[in-house]
Amino acid sequence: MKVTDHIAKAQGNPQFTFEILPPLKGQSIDAIFESIDPLMEFKPPFIDVTYHREEYIYIPLEDGLLKRQVVKKRPGTVGICAAIQNKYQVDAIPHILCGGFTKEDTENFLIDLDFLEIDNVVALRGDAVKNETYFSPEKDGHTYAVDLVKQIDQLNHGSYLDVELQNSACTDFCIGVAGYPEKHMEAPNLESDLHFLKKKVEAGAQYIVTQMFFDNEKYFDFVKRCRAAGIEVPIIPGLKPLATKKQLNLIPHRFHVDLPEALIKEAIKCKDNAAVRQLGIEWCSAQSKELLDHGVPVLHYYSMGKSDNIRQIAKRVF
Ligand SMILES: Cc1cc2nc3c(=O)[nH]c(=O)nc-3n(C[C@H](O)[C@H](O)[C@H](O)COP(=O)(O)OP(=O)(O)OC[C@H]3O[C@@H](n4cnc5c(N)ncnc54)[C@H](O)[C@@H]3O)c2cc1C
Repeated sequence: MKVTDHIAKAQGNPQFTFEILPPLKGQSIDAIFESIDPLMEFKPPFIDVTYHREEYIYIPLEDGLLKRQVVKKRPGTVGICAAIQNKYQVDAIPHILCGGFTKEDTENFLIDLDFLEIDNVVALRGDAVKNETYFSPEKDGHTYAVDLVKQIDQLNHGSYLDVELQNSACTDFCIGVAGYPEKHMEAPNLESDLHFLKKKVEAGAQYIVTQMFFDNEKYFDFVKRCRAAGIEVPIIPGLKPLATKKQLNLIPHRFHVDLPEALIKEAIKCKDNAAVRQLGIEWCSAQSKELLDHGVPVLHYYSMGKSDNIRQIAKRVF
C-alpha cells in the first residue's frame, strides 16, 4: 500500500511509524527484529529504513603516505526492507540518496525495489561524506533531491536511462521527501528552503517527512508556511525522544535544530541518563498528544535503533 493511502486511512484513527538503521556490517539482522518486535502490537502502517552512504578511511602506509579506502559501515537497506515486508507484512520504506549513486546505480536500485514489490521510497540528497564540508555528487549522479525525484517519476512513466528501450514497464513508486521546520542547514533562509521543497513536490513527491523538532510551534508554523506557498501534500511530523544528556549538544550539532529552554533546564537537572530518557519520553508524549489533538494523522519517530522509549510513548499516546 502507498504511504499516501496509509495517511488517508489514518484520518480519525491516528497511527505512528518509525525508522530503523541497518545494523553495522558484521552484525546480525536479529538486532533489527528485536527493536521492531516490541512495536508491532501497535500495528505501525509502515517502517522506514535509512540508507547510509560510503565513508572514507585513511590507512597509514609504511612510507608515511595514507591510502584512502572506501567503506560502507551500514549496508543492507534493500535486504532489510524485503525482510521486514516478508516477516511482518508491513510496508517498508527504503531511503534512497543522491550521494554515492550514479543515475545508473539509482535506476538499478529502483528496479530491485520494484521487483521486491517495495513501492514507496523517501528520496534524499544525503549529506557530504564524513570529513568533507560540502556535498558533492557522483560524476553522473544527482546534485539535489529534486533531480532524484524527477528520475523516479520518469521511471514511474516507463522512461528509463536507455532511451532505446521499447515498451518498458512503468514502476509505481510513491515518493516521500524531507522537509525542515527549522530550515536545512545550508539554506540561506526558510523562504528559500520552501521554494526548493515546492520544486520537489512539483517534480512528483507525494508527501513530506520533517526533520525532528522539539517544539510543536515550529511544525505548526512550517505547515502554515508550506500551505501558503502552495505545498499541499501531507506533512508527517518527525519526533525524537531525548535519551541522553550528551544529546543536548549532539542533536543541535548533527541535525541543526534547537531544543526548547524548558527541556534543556529539565535535562540538566537529571541525575543520570535514565532520568533524561524518562524526561524524553514525557516530553515526546506531550508533543505527540498535542499533534494528534491538532488532527495530525501519522507521527514518525526517529528510533535510532532503540525502541524501548518509543514503546513507552506509544503506550501513553496510542
Ligand atoms: C526525514 C528525513 C530522512 C532522512 N534520511 C536520511 C537517510 O536515510 N540517509 C542519509 O544519509 N540522510 C538522511 N537524511 C538527511 C538528509 O540527507 C540531509 O539533511 C541532506 O543534507 C539534505 O537532504 P535533502 O533531501 O533534504 O536535500 P535537498 O532537498 O536536495 O536540499 C538540500 C539543500 O539544497 C537546497 N536546494 C535544493 N534544491 C536546490 C536547487 N535546485 N538549487 C539550489 N539549492 C537547492 C535546499 O534548500 C537545501 O538547503 C534524512 C533527513 C530527513 C529530514
